[in-house]
Amino acid sequence: MTKADILIVGAGINGLVAANYLQRSGCNVTMIERAERVGGACVSAVATVAGLTQHYALGASVLGLMQDFVFVETGLSSRLQTFVPEHAKFVHFPGDSEPAWIYRDPVQLDRELADKWGEKGDVAAFRSDEAMVVRFLQDGYVSATPPTIADAKRVLGDTLTELWISGSAKSLLDHYFTSERSKMYMAMTVTESGPVSLCDPYSAFTLPLMDSGSVFDGYYGFVKGGIWQITEELGRINAELGVKTHLSSKLVDVDAAKGSVLYEHSGSERKLEFDYLILGTDPLTATRLVGTPEQIKQTEGQRFRGSSGKLNLMFSQPVRWKYGSDASDSDAAFRFIFSVSSLAEYEDATLKVLDTDANYVPGYMQIYCEGAAMRLLNSSEPFDRLSVFFKNLSLNETGAELPDVENQAREEILQHIENPQDCVWTRLLTPRDLQQLFHFPGGNLDHTMLTGGQTFFDRTYADDPATNFYRFGSLDNVYLCGSGTYPCGSVTGTPGYMCSQQLLRHAQ
Ligand SMILES: Cc1cc2nc3c(=O)[nH]c(=O)nc-3n(C[C@H](O)[C@H](O)[C@H](O)COP(=O)(O)OP(=O)(O)OC[C@H]3O[C@@H](n4cnc5c(N)ncnc54)[C@H](O)[C@@H]3O)c2cc1C
Repeated sequence: MTKADILIVGAGINGLVAANYLQRSGCNVTMIERAERVGGACVSAVATVAGLTQHYALGASVLGLMQDFVFVETGLSSRLQTFVPEHAKFVHFPGDSEPAWIYRDPVQLDRELADKWGEKGDVAAFRSDEAMVVRFLQDGYVSATPPTIADAKRVLGDTLTELWISGSAKSLLDHYFTSERSKMYMAMTVTESGPVSLCDPYSAFTLPLMDSGSVFDGYYGFVKGGIWQITEELGRINAELGVKTHLSSKLVDVDAAKGSVLYEHSGSERKLEFDYLILGTDPLTATRLVGTPEQIKQTEGQRFRGSSGKLNLMFSQPVRWKYGSDASDSDAAFRFIFSVSSLAEYEDATLKVLDTDANYVPGYMQIYCEGAAMRLLNSSEPFDRLSVFFKNLSLNETGAELPDVENQAREEILQHIENPQDCVWTRLLTPRDLQQLFHFPGGNLDHTMLTGGQTFFDRTYADDPATNFYRFGSLDNVYLCGSGTYPCGSVTGTPGYMCSQQLLRHAQ
């Protein structure tokens, strides 16, 4: 499409990816971003300790759900260095003297889970069936075709579709595994962003979804400097391509019929015109800007609740783990700490934060050893750093208001470290912080919860999703591509890419 004027609101990963594809296809792209920098929830912050400064990941930490073709075609792959630990992951359960090793090799993994967790199910069948579902999803990403149940049944058959897509995570895990621990390990992704019951319809689908990245073949890894290099670099690439970006500029009004918007910048209102408007925001913000009263009511009725928090830690000396191997990437391996011992406890802890009086119910922690990864990427930094993504936090208070929770979470991690005295700085973020910092409506990093009625083909706001999935309602010139749309959140850009391709098809 030549020279259409595209206005993109929101310079998070999805807005940036959409801008990149549309500018390269010949459109004139302008972006409006409320913050003073690009990146949305993929940005850094700075810690100052004893006069030394250190950048750390404020929102996202690890890269994995992005598609390899997006990483290459946007120009990112030729500008950034990455590292993916090959080492087995370590998983700790309460009372265990040593962790289980999650090997990449299914045969080794089968043996380890049988030895450590008494697993008698079929790990290899789980992995190979999941690979089929993941391939189905990835084919849809490339062709920018959001899936339907009919497509899934045609490609995967009725049984796999019911097990892996429309069914519950509980029935999926019961089908392949016998050990509660294997099930809990696999279930982590289902509750990763919000308090979703493992018994919810469609909760099974989150498992293949979260493994459907191809940038590192389904694994997660690190970017030299920090993951925020992805959005910063994409902002630079886009500027070189000719994308114009207005920072510190908040969209306040849209006249879709006239093709114009008003935005606020430095206390004054300014006007811009467009042929197409893309909202790279959360769906609530988008609907309030362009929706009818009925659409606003419908979107406000969605489930937005998030229950994930993040603890960043700085160490004056490299972290020495109590458990590890002699391999060079052992210190950079992913580590998981569970505080629950059964699926029933897991489910209770997940849902308990919906009660108003519980601020923190320990569930599990995912530890990303960012400092160790930076050392392997030959990036020298004043502090070693960990970022810990963990469950289950309520929406009640900010991290600064919960020093006891911050302490408790820190102690849970430090008990696995030989040199806890070197921990010199921590910062806790709760869903309330995510709401305030990133404007996630309920503190959920997928913008809306990944639960029945809000996942798979339901992640659309179009009146005609079968023909134009990413457009907003029945507006021909307004599209929505934030993390609330298919497939989900994460530093992936898949909604932004798919939206840009659908817009190009319909505009021709
Ligand atoms: C603590 C935390 C940890 C995470 N960990 C990971 C991880 O390790 N790996 C991973 O892949 N993902 C992770 N995520 C999720 C990931 O960061 C997000 O899903 C993703 O960055 C969202 O991208 P987006 O472009 O859809 O939306 P956003 O990043 O939310 O971008 C939307 C943009 O729109 C702007 N905007 C909104 N309204 C307006 C308006 N009216 N006018 C102008 N601009 C507006 C906002 O300022 C924002 O910049 C994490 C998120 C958080 C918060």
